[in-house]
Amino acid sequence: MELDVLVVGAGFAGSVVAERLASAGQRVHVIDRRSHIAGNAFDENDAQGTQIHRYGPHIFHTNSDEVFAYLSRFTDWRPYEHRVLASVDGKLLPIPINLDTVNRLYGLHLDEEGLKAYFETVREPRETIRTSEDVIVNTVGWDLYRKFYQGYTRKQWGLDPSELFASVASRVPVRTNRDDRYFTDTHQAMPKDGYTPMFSRILDHPNISIELGRDFREIRAKTRARHIVYTGPIDEYFDHCFGKLPYRSLRFEHEQLPGVEQYQPVGTVNYPNEHAYTRITEFRHLTGQTGPHTSIVREYPQAQGDPYYPIPRPENDLLFKRYQALAQQEKDVTFVGRLAQYRYYNMDQVVGAALSIAKKILGQPET
Ligand code: FAD
Ligand code: UDP
Repeated sequence: MELDVLVVGAGFAGSVVAERLASAGQRVHVIDRRSHIAGNAFDENDAQGTQIHRYGPHIFHTNSDEVFAYLSRFTDWRPYEHRVLASVDGKLLPIPINLDTVNRLYGLHLDEEGLKAYFETVREPRETIRTSEDVIVNTVGWDLYRKFYQGYTRKQWGLDPSELFASVASRVPVRTNRDDRYFTDTHQAMPKDGYTPMFSRILDHPNISIELGRDFREIRAKTRARHIVYTGPIDEYFDHCFGKLPYRSLRFEHEQLPGVEQYQPVGTVNYPNEHAYTRITEFRHLTGQTGPHTSIVREYPQAQGDPYYPIPRPENDLLFKRYQALAQQEKDVTFVGRLAQYRYYNMDQVVGAALSIAKKILGQPET
């Protein structure tokens, strides 16, 4: 087949770029080394018919009307606001930390102004906010930092918060009101039939062909595409020539609980200080599925395995920049996505990046 573009990876980055280019008349071939589309957002039914996310819980949220409108062409939505509790000192308390978290943890009866005043007495002001320790200690002081952030972060990343950029812990804000939603974005919803059917519709285009179980490394030498869109790990593309760029991995322990209608009160419970896993998610909260059985997943962080998270810290940033400089010299190749751009992107940010990169490839102006 005459080929204009080869897209490596059928996750959000690859699928969205493929759809945009195909809709503009280009012939696009998408490969993925996994046996399925949808990348890490892949969902499926387990043996008892419960819809689960194979690679951990994926909750869609965005402030971008453009991203939401684009995806809405391929899916209907089920409104869903994610709530998370953290297991701390034998209690299940709201995280992000809010007014109820502090009152219930310490047996206080503060109001919002009282909590602001309380934080003033316990916070340790930091002149420059560089690390994840800085951002939390500067806001709520050492006790809340130790109980809710430090243990979770050490488990998740194998690093202390003082070794990670502030942007990591800043993902989970601190509130003085009673809002117990995990996200406050204007759009919070789950694809009605799931992520994988949404991806099938994104990729369902006469100009798109798909080949699964195919690794770029096998076909790289013989590809004749005019342009390549690469969404895999950037260091792998360059044969790790400057050394391996660290990505954090996870082991997912899925469990089906036949006859159990509800395992836990909210979608996710975090375990900052106990267990080897960071959190347990019960999927039916996310999907709205009902019935007699439920399914959960535990996430065990690990250094080896599939790359899931870029690790935002200074030395990794420097190493990434060396690869990025090579990428900029690579003719007719575009690098996009969480692994290729080494950015701690949420799904909507990847879609946003893919939409603007597709415009660039097509020579269209940014809107
Ligand atoms: P990926 O989904 O990783 O897709 C890249 C694809 O490229 C993969 O399928 C891979 O197999 C393929 N590939 C790589 N190299 C090659 C090669 N050499 N040859 C062929 N194929 C290759 N985001 C949210 O917005 N909300 C959430 O709740 C959320 N939860 C998450 C939970 C977990 C545990 C994880 C790990 C991530 C979560 N995310 C969440 C982030 C979300 O998964 C990513 O933003 C998004 O899936 C990234 O899309 P991508 O296309 O860049 O990468
Ligand atoms: N975090 C924490 N305690 C929590 C939740 C999060 O310390 O209860 C920190 C931790 O470093 C984590 C980061 O905040 O990696 C981002 O959390 P988020 O829930 O956004 O992680 P993700 O869903 O991307 O794994």
